[in-house]
Order: sequence, then structure tokens, then C-alpha cells
Amino acid sequence: MNFHALAERLLPGDYPSPAFYEEKYPARTLPKGAEVTRLAPSPTGFIHLGNLFAAIANERIAHRSGGVLYLRIEDTDLKRKVDGAVEAVISALKYFDIQFDEGAEIGGNETYAPWYQRQRAEIYRAFAKKLIEEGRAYPCFCTEEDLSALRDEQTKNKEITGYYGKYAKCRNLSEEEIYKNLDEGKPFVVRLRSLGNPENKIKFHDEIKGDVTVTENDQDVVILKSDGIPTYHFAHAIDDHFMRTTLVLRGEEWLASLPIHIELFDALGFTRPRYGHNCSLMKQDGETRRKLSKRKDPELSLEFYRKEGYFARAVKVYMLTLLNSNFEEWYLKNPDADLNDFPFKAEKMSKSGALFDLDKLNDVSKNELARLSVEETISFLQNWANEFGTEKQRQYFSDEGKLQAVLALCMGIGGKKRRKDFTTASQAMEFIKFFFERPVLHESYRVTDADKRSILNGFLSRYNAADDAQVWFSKVKEIAAENGFAAEMKDYKANPENYKGSVADVAEVLRIATTGRANTPDLWTIQQILGEGEVRARIQGEIV
Ligand code: GLU
Repeated sequence: MNFHALAERLLPGDYPSPAFYEEKYPARTLPKGAEVTRLAPSPTGFIHLGNLFAAIANERIAHRSGGVLYLRIEDTDLKRKVDGAVEAVISALKYFDIQFDEGAEIGGNETYAPWYQRQRAEIYRAFAKKLIEEGRAYPCFCTEEDLSALRDEQTKNKEITGYYGKYAKCRNLSEEEIYKNLDEGKPFVVRLRSLGNPENKIKFHDEIKGDVTVTENDQDVVILKSDGIPTYHFAHAIDDHFMRTTLVLRGEEWLASLPIHIELFDALGFTRPRYGHNCSLMKQDGETRRKLSKRKDPELSLEFYRKEGYFARAVKVYMLTLLNSNFEEWYLKNPDADLNDFPFKAEKMSKSGALFDLDKLNDVSKNELARLSVEETISFLQNWANEFGTEKQRQYFSDEGKLQAVLALCMGIGGKKRRKDFTTASQAMEFIKFFFERPVLHESYRVTDADKRSILNGFLSRYNAADDAQVWFSKVKEIAAENGFAAEMKDYKANPENYKGSVADVAEVLRIATTGRANTPDLWTIQQILGEGEVRARIQGEIV
């Protein structure tokens, strides 16, 4: 068969030679040992924890070695690109301090552009044409129905499904048959003519999983689809070669395709990059472990962490804990270190599934928030409020003195003893609401209406904002005694039957009237922050 003529018929026109591309995309000049890694998402608009997991690993490996992390957009599968999807990837990862050195919408070293696969059609076709000329690729005219009938037959015969060996019908079409199909205008895909034998095993070193043995590929995989757009396999080989990736660190779902990629790199005459296959994030669901799911687990989406207002470093610390088995110990020893100083290693990554546990992340988060300075806390909350908060919440920041007093009380900022009540900005902002907005809903009072009124009136007649905490509390005790509640806890405990309740119940009435809640930090301090007028107005409002 005249493969040159066939290649010209299938992909007419002049395409640059491999040598041209080798020169156009030269080997990078980087220090010895520098790794070039990448993130290669599809622009679906959904960025998830798995992306972040891979991004942190790729970023650390690239930057710790003095190398490059780039962003490539794998848009070959999509009919339409989701608007804003690429910007969303970049901004979601930037939140977690993942900075790309080059790539789509980032720029950087233009030598290796473009970074959208749809803009690289010429390179893929040039190499597909080369493979056709060499007899290593051929047109396949099988329809969806043909392929599905083939699958059924293979399934029935309990054979491996796919397009290979004797099942690869179009592999052996005569020149005449091929041209006849083309003359009839039949659509075709281009397939690799595999030379592999599944009886042969290939030993392979995976940077994460260690030594693995895989079976040689014998599938005649599609390399160009009928619209001339490459498949993932083909684009991966070409792009990772010409973008000069040294380490392909990707999800373990690709491990099964590795034999295809090995054959493609060999067929194209490219040196293979090294690979690392990253385990999936799992979640404990009752007795079983399963992959995090888009439908069931809101925490899979990175948007969740920003909307809730997780502190980015906390998420990163937790991800690093899952990514490198020795991180936790290192972090205990170096709590104040820059996370980038941790000696991240691909071989320390988990070989099987990493268990993601939101409760653990929440614990990490509480600790991390408790480490922020006054300024850091305020700017963290304010950034969240600016992006996700309500108009009212944004106003909390207009009186910094009051806000500081509130946060000193509720989070312990500026003091020695930090409280660890909050996991997220949204939670903290929701909690401090009663300082800035009058409570609309009040928790229910546990005393009778008559007692409530009497307690509140008793308080108003005595209240003086200039009282210190001790005087204030002695007045609360007076109110208790006056209304049949024990002024001293010990009296109440000794003879509960003599009282309606204790001073604690009286304080709770005042607390609910002032804040709407039965549980708050110190009430005297809260009232100090609110100021006399506001306290009186709130308490008066509850005397109905
Ligand atoms: N586009 C592929 C994905 O999103 C990339 C896999 C890879 O990193 O090579 O799964």
C-alpha cells in the first residue's frame, strides 16, 4: 500500500516536519533535576478537591526542584467550552496559593504556547499524518453500530472488549476498499496500528506507586476523531513531549491507559516522561469507603471551601497531611514554618486511596484560625465578607474598634487564650451577628412569662453601664433573690426544691433578651460592647 498517498488523501496539505516541531519547542534550559509538571483539566467549570490534591503535589514537585508548573486546558472532548471555566480553575487554585508559571490565560514562557488543545490541531494532525505515512496509523470507517455490535460479541465470548487483533476490521482493509469508502464520503477516525502483544509484560516505575508491571497494549486506539480532533491519549503524548513535561503526575484512573501511552511515545519516537499515578480521595460512608461524589458530597467542590470561608492554609495543611505521610510530624515540629519548606516527595504519596474526612479538616481549620493575628483574622473575615457576605456583614468592618472587641471576646484575638469555636469565616460571621444586628429570633425562655418580665424590669431599673463585672453580677443576684431564684449556686444545689431556679436561669433570661441566644461568651462584656442604649432597647423590646 502507498502509505504516503493515503496520508495525503486523509490529511491533505503540507504539515511541518517533526524536526520543525522539535526546534520550535526546544528542550527547556533548567537546572539539573528541575521538574516540569502540569495541570491539565478539562474546562467543565467544576473544580474539585481532586484537582487541588493533584495541583498541590504538582506545584510542590515543580517548585521545590526549581522547575515549572504549567496549565494546559484539555478541551478536546467538549463541544463547547464552559464560559469562564479556565478563569475559575486559576482563581480557585490561586486561593490555595497554587501559582502557575505558564499556561492558558496566564502567559509566561510563550515558547510552549498555545495551551488550549483545540488551538493545537495542526501539531496533532502533522504527527497523525506521519504515523499514517509510516503505516503506524490507519483510517477506520466503523460506525457506532459496528462498534457496539463488536462489543456485544466480545462480551458474549467473554473476551476483552475493544478494537484489536482480529477484531480490528479496518486494520486490514485493502487500498481499494479504503479509497472506495473515502470516495463515498464515509466519515473515518484515525487509529494507531498497535504492534503490541498482551502476552508481553512491561516493567514500569511509577513515581508514586513504585514498580508496577503492565501488559503491552494491543488496542488500535483512536488517535484522531472524525472531526480531526485528537483523543486524550494522542494529545497527551504530543503535548507532554513538546511542552517538555518531565513528570506526568495524574489521577490513578489513567494507570490503565499507560500501556497505550507507552506505545504512542515509542511510535512517535519521543522519550517518555516519568509518571506518577495519584490515588483517589475516598470518603468513609458507613462501613464502606467510596470515592467522593459530585452528587452526594458538596465538599468535593472547591467552591464549597471558598463559600463557607475555610481558611486556605487550613485546607492546604490538611491536603498535605493526606498527600505526604510524614507531613503531619514535620508540621508538629515546625508549626510556624512556611509550608513550602516542607520537603515534599512524590514517593511519600499514598499508594492506595487517601481518606478525606471533613471533621479532621474542621479540626485543622479551628487550630489554624486560632493562630492568626488580630490583623490577619480581620482581613480574612473581611475578604470573605466582601466576596460572599451580606451587605450588613460588610458593615461590621466599619467600626474596627468594636469589631476587635467582639473578636477578642468570641475568638480570643489579641489575648493569650485563643478560643477554637469556629471552622470557617461564615460560621464566625454568623455567630457575631448579634453584636451588629438586633436579634429577630430569640431562643425560648425557660422561665414563666411573668418571671421573665419581672427579671427584665428588675434589670432595667438597676442597670448602669458603668458597673464593673462584679457589681453587675451582684445586681443579677439581687434580681434572682427578689424573684424566688437562688442567688448562690451552692444554695440552689443544696435545696433545689426551695427555689424556682438559680441565678444561672436569671442570667440566661438576660442573655436571651440581649443576644437572642442561650449560649454566648461573657454577658457583661457583651453588654459593654453593645453600650447602654442598645442594651436597654433590646431588653425593653423583650418586655411584652
Ligand atoms: N484532562 C485529563 C483529566 O482531566 C488530564 C489527565 C492528566 O493529567 O493527564 O482527567
